[in-house]
Amino acid sequence: MKILSCFSDIKEIKPLAAAGAGELYCAVAGLPSFGEPGSLPDLGEFAKAARAAHRLGLKVSVAVNSVMPSFTPGKETRLVKDLAAASAAGADAFIVSNPSIIELLSQVQPRPAAVHLSSVQPCFNSLTAAFFLRLGVSRIILPNQLSPYEAHKILELCRERGVETEIFDYRFFGCAYVNGRCSLHRPGYYTAAAAVQKGSMCRLNLPGSLPVPRTVGVVPELKYKLGGVTGRLADRLGRGGAPRMSNAASFFDYFTAGVGYLKYGTRRDPSEVKVRKVKDMRAMLGLAEELTAALSAGKARAGFIEKLEGWDGTKY
Ligand SMILES: [Zn+2]
Repeated sequence: MKILSCFSDIKEIKPLAAAGAGELYCAVAGLPSFGEPGSLPDLGEFAKAARAAHRLGLKVSVAVNSVMPSFTPGKETRLVKDLAAASAAGADAFIVSNPSIIELLSQVQPRPAAVHLSSVQPCFNSLTAAFFLRLGVSRIILPNQLSPYEAHKILELCRERGVETEIFDYRFFGCAYVNGRCSLHRPGYYTAAAAVQKGSMCRLNLPGSLPVPRTVGVVPELKYKLGGVTGRLADRLGRGGAPRMSNAASFFDYFTAGVGYLKYGTRRDPSEVKVRKVKDMRAMLGLAEELTAALSAGKARAGFIEKLEGWDGTKY
């Protein structure tokens, strides 16, 4: 398993590689990616970044994974030109979500090396995976809501077809709902803006301090249920950390299932946090490798989960 890290500044490339990143990705302003902050300013800067990455032997992908890109004919022509420019500048892959962008990429000459399916186009079953493979996708980035058991047919299909697979580091990324479809990332949809210091409403890092949700017009005979409901809501929204499906156990199972890439993708993290997180991922991966080499499958899994339980996420 290789670590794939985001970067948002050329200066981050060297320290990320030294920390253990084996591949990189970025967004470029003007290309329609999901979540705008943390993009390189232009294609000229991307060309320099791609050269810097390649000098270190790292591939670099570009996110063009906007869920709902909108085009005028003029914009479309411009985008095909920009995609061709990014490809010529050294993009090893494009991360896409909307099939319309895959179609535009097919007009790019020479044909870009690889197309990766973004997790914001959640691929939840092998039939969906097969659809995207027919469109030419060569790597599937799995959504965090999918457990390894639920993903086993997708993984099998990808193995058969020689298609790569990728997961996110559950500790550093993840919408509690369906990423890409969740509106709780947009401050326009909630009023608790003061409580949301960074990040989004669906993954607050405020254990225990979320205000109790106000209730309106509750049927009196159901009032006794309110404590449990508000408790669950506060737990789900206020706990921070990983979405429920995504945890040390699911990481370990994906690891042993042979998923090839582990992604860290919080582009707006400061450079030093990015480097720290990649080092931490390298250490986690090292632990998984070490335990599987030394112990039986069950013991390695248990040991891994036990160790990760002591991990302190608040230091980030
Ligand atoms: Zn969300």
